[in-house]
Amino acid sequence: MDHLGSRPGNVAGGCLPGLSPTPCRSLTLDRVMTLLYQDPIFLEHDTGSHPECAQRLRAVSDHLAATGLDQRCGCPAWEPVTSKWLAEVHRPEYTAQLERFARDGGGRIEVDTVMSARSYEVACRAAGAVCDAVQRVVGGEDRTALCLVRPPGHHARSGAAMGFCLLNNIALAARVATTELEVQRVLIVDWDVHHGNGTQETFWSDPQVGFFSIHRWPFYPGTGDRTETGEGPGLGTTCNLPVAFGTPRREYLDLFTGELERFADRIRPQLVLVSAGFDSHCRDPIGSLGLEVEDFAQLTDVTRRIAEQHAAGRLVSVLEGGYDPAVLAECVATHLERLLA
Ligand SMILES: [Zn+2]
Repeated sequence: MDHLGSRPGNVAGGCLPGLSPTPCRSLTLDRVMTLLYQDPIFLEHDTGSHPECAQRLRAVSDHLAATGLDQRCGCPAWEPVTSKWLAEVHRPEYTAQLERFARDGGGRIEVDTVMSARSYEVACRAAGAVCDAVQRVVGGEDRTALCLVRPPGHHARSGAAMGFCLLNNIALAARVATTELEVQRVLIVDWDVHHGNGTQETFWSDPQVGFFSIHRWPFYPGTGDRTETGEGPGLGTTCNLPVAFGTPRREYLDLFTGELERFADRIRPQLVLVSAGFDSHCRDPIGSLGLEVEDFAQLTDVTRRIAEQHAAGRLVSVLEGGYDPAVLAECVATHLERLLA
């Protein structure tokens, strides 16, 4: 627990200085808020003309400022993830490779994934945000948190970058919860349009972390069949819901709700984490499962209800995909509104 220089109540003056015109509220307010993690450093993972680009977060930040939603949130200060915690998920030789690749100026580290000179630093800060959010939410500082970070994380494997992802932010946070914070059971809900293969792999035989994913199928990255349910002590703690392109929204939402309730009853989580990708929106240029903005309100409500029922409301949400900046901004605002409701 020596990771954070910041302690509860230690807050930054604002979320995105230079981008957000007014600072977020401090954590001293006595009403329920959501902890909101934003930082201009996330714009410095420079990917050029890649769809996973800084404009995504600029659009989100501007929209949250325009709607005033950011004013209703607390904005904690936090530190980058430590190498000790990185080693809970990633091989040290892999993180050393990432660091070196960035130091040498970056480039394409795998077929889909681009790094710039500052990408490793940015990725460590993103993972640090999610770990900090889990610490604060488990510590009772607030019940919910939303981490608007990039690069995304759920495809990142123990020893390899993949699918725009460098470090697996949500897997690191789940491991911090079970190893450092004595949380016995964590549930990860992944509603990104792509299967979270890196997260699944990390917890494949781990009985303490349940992984629930709804995703388009067949689709990138090719994993996430119904038959993939974990193994050894982790058998039954992975649940995959592959959904075909063209599935009606009502059917998708009913499937998500029914299966998540059933799975959560089995896992009985003390903490719920969300891999919140918004690339299943009908106008997303990469994903699309035909969802509309309001469907993310329902996904959020169902997941919050699960968190309230099992985990005293403790929920930390982490941005994954979503590649039309304007659509992403609307979806994130809707998601945050429901977290604040
Ligand atoms: Zn995705």
